[in-house]
This record gives sequence, structure tokens and C-alpha cells, in this order.
Amino acid sequence: MISKLLIANRGEIAVRIIRAARELGIIPVVVYSEADKDSLPVKIADQAICIGPPPATESYLYYQNILSAAITLSADAIHPGYGFLAENPAFAEACRALNIKFVGPNPLAIRKLGDKATAKKIVKEAGVPVVPGSDGVIKTYDEAMEIAREIGFPIIIKASAGGGGRGMRIVYREEDLENAFNFAATEAQQAFGDSSVYIEKYIANPKHIEIQILADKHGNVVHLFERDCSVQRRHQKLIEEAPSFVLDEETRQKMGEAAVKAAKAANYDSAGTVEFLYNLETKEFYFIEMNTRIQVEHPITEEITGVDLIKQQIRIAKGEPLDIKQEDIKRYGHCIECRINAEDPSNNFAPTPGKITQFIVPGGPGVRIDSGVYPGYTIPPYYDSMVAKLIVWGKNRKEAINRMKRALREFIVEGIKSTIPFHQEVFKNSTFLSGQYTTHFIDKFFNK
Ligand code: ADP
Repeated sequence: MISKLLIANRGEIAVRIIRAARELGIIPVVVYSEADKDSLPVKIADQAICIGPPPATESYLYYQNILSAAITLSADAIHPGYGFLAENPAFAEACRALNIKFVGPNPLAIRKLGDKATAKKIVKEAGVPVVPGSDGVIKTYDEAMEIAREIGFPIIIKASAGGGGRGMRIVYREEDLENAFNFAATEAQQAFGDSSVYIEKYIANPKHIEIQILADKHGNVVHLFERDCSVQRRHQKLIEEAPSFVLDEETRQKMGEAAVKAAKAANYDSAGTVEFLYNLETKEFYFIEMNTRIQVEHPITEEITGVDLIKQQIRIAKGEPLDIKQEDIKRYGHCIECRINAEDPSNNFAPTPGKITQFIVPGGPGVRIDSGVYPGYTIPPYYDSMVAKLIVWGKNRKEAINRMKRALREFIVEGIKSTIPFHQEVFKNSTFLSGQYTTHFIDKFFNK
């Protein structure tokens, strides 16, 4: 049983989890930093406790205070959302030690998969195709050169503890490897407190396609098809769609099966995402990593399958077996998500915190808004800049695109600059409209 769920997060994901909890008859409570006392989750949760000053290290990452809040409020479970403590195995362990259910996978799975080099090894052994590269972390430059020569340049050096699109370095020529290797290790140490790096073949022009999975604590694993997240800027996703317009049924099936295999190999037991790079020409796909959390883009999967992923996560955390079988999971129509960020696309996407004076959201058939803001709300400068997700569903891709265009046209945000004008441009681009776009799409068409 879970009767009170503490949400250790903020913004739109805190609101999303409050909604799921309430619909399940669970009391949602939140923690917040001093910068978030007027935030939407604080207004709509049943109870809220301030856990510290604005910097995340002193509030949303300071888990002693979060655990104290859970005890004070008698919460019997904690949902970490995404970011912050969502993929911190020590936090999951601390919850367990206090007999508080962690709404996420077991700490061991988080630990294994959080180390990207280890994760690759585990899934490769299970027979999942991975990007060619080093077997685990690389310790010396000589070792790096040996592997780079073997797989051929260009290569990418990645931080094993990396995430959020950070800690990656592409190397095109042999003579640049030594410097790049040393830089990458130093950077990884500074950014993630762990200097371990590994090497992969740099895939020339891939799509980023990921598979949503659900796994329970009884060994059942299902997949819920793919999301195409290739519209990226600096390796960060901006627009996602489901299904991918370019996958054939056979490849879709194979990727789904590979994702289930990966989750089983890691003894996974929650909602999770298995990420692949996909080669449009050869139709080959390669595992890059598994994310052990609910993701920003989860709603597009919910809209095409009718499965509420947050409710499923909570049910799994309670120990219930999955109530859906693979053969019952069907796809309906097409769904697209635009991330509406408080950023100025005409000024290199610089963050634009400040007071939102107008906030009029689109509606009508097939439109869903997951947002953490309201008119008159002041966006604090301390956290990530996403303020809303505009999610549209259509019976096919064409209808979803037309619906997105009209929804973007209706969306009025004043007081701050937002990424709405950028999205409007993307929806005019013929490469985007063709569905054939890759992870280089934004660089090629918008970063001139
Ligand atoms: P993070 O954990 O930081 O999100 P990922 O390993 O998921 O890092 O990679 C993020 C993005 O970086 C991918 O979606 C892709 O665009 C690019 N990328 C990662 N590895 C490769 C590779 N081997 N070849 C080409 N692009 C890559």
C-alpha cells in the first residue's frame, strides 16, 4: 500500500505526478526550495514542506532534508521525477533503509545502468547490439588509440557517469586523440566527480530512437514502442514524436524485443527507457544507454498507447504485477511533443527567467499541456528552463502536424521569451516534415 506520496521534484513533472497520485487515491505532498514557494505544485499538493535555499545542492539534491520531510509528513513513498535524485542509487538505498518506497527501479539496477560503460557491457552480453567501441572504461591513451584505430575514426569519447547530453567529445583525426582523451577525463571528473571515459564509434548521421519499457518486480517486462527524439540541440531533445515515421514494423518489433532483453539483463523493475542510435540507410540500431527514470517525453507514449506511465510506476513500486501483457499493447495514431522553454531562440537559446505576464494555453481536440507555470508566475533562474510541454495527438502524422501548428499559433506567452517561435519554424521545414531528419537536423538548418 501507498497512502501518501512525497514528490521530490518541481515544475511540470511534480504537477504530473500529483495528478496521477490523486487519481489513484493517494495523497500527494511536495517538497520545495525557497525559490519555489509560489510554484504550481506547492499550490495544488495536499501538503508542502520547504527543504532549503534555492541552489539545488542545498534543496532538491540535499536528500537528508527530503527524507526528513517524508518522515515528518508520514509519506510512505517518494517519487523522484526526473533529474535531481531520480538516478541516484544512494538515495534509493536511503529510502529503502527508512522503509519508504522509492518509485523507481532497485538501487542495484540504477547503479549498474548509471555507469554507461557497465550498462553497455551488460546488454551486449545479453545479445543487444551496441555501438562498436571499448569494452568498458578506457584507462590510458595507448588503449584509447588501439581501440580508435580498430573501430576507425571518427570516434566519440564519452563520460561513463555522463548524462544530460554532457561529457561527450568527438574526435575526427588520430593526432587529436591524445588531447581529447585527457580533456574528456578531466571534464568528466569536474562535471560528474568520476573521470572514467569510454570510446564509441561516432555514428555519422543517426536518428535517436528510444523504446519505453515497463518492468515489474516479478520478472515481467513489456515495451510500449518507440519515440523518435532526433530533434536535438547540443544533444538535448527539443521535439519528440511517436511512432517514428521511418521505422518499418519488423525493425520496430526487433527494437522492442532488444529493449525488453536489456531490461531483463539488468534486473530492471520500473518504467525505463532504452536508447538506440538508428542508421536510416542500413536500418541497423545500436544501444547507447538506458535511462532509469520517467522521461520528459513520456506523454507521447501515453497518448498513443493509452497507458498511464506514472500510475504504472506507482503500481510497480507497490509490488503489484503488471496488469498489461505485450499483446494487449496497441498503438493508435500519432503524437508529437514540443518542449516550451523559457529561452530566447534568437539569442542562442539563452535562458529567460522572469515574470510570465500572459500565459494562454491552446486547447481543443487532441491537445494536452503538461505545465508547471501560470500567469503571473515568476520563473526562478536556478533550475532548468522548461516551462511546459505541448503534446498533440492526431489520427495520423499529418493531422498531428497540422494540429501542432495551430496549437503553437494559439499559445500566448508574454513577459518572457520562449521557444514557441523556434518550434513554428521547425514545423515549416521540409526535412522535418518528411520525417527523415537526424540528430544533426538543428545544427544543419537552424545554427547558421
Ligand atoms: P546522455 O546520457 O548525455 O543523454 P547519450 O549517450 O544518450 O548521452 O547520447 C546523447 C546524444 O548524443 C544521442 O542522442 C546522439 O545524438 C549523440 N550521440 C551519442 N553517442 C553517439 C555516437 N556514438 N555517435 C553519434 N552520436 C552519438
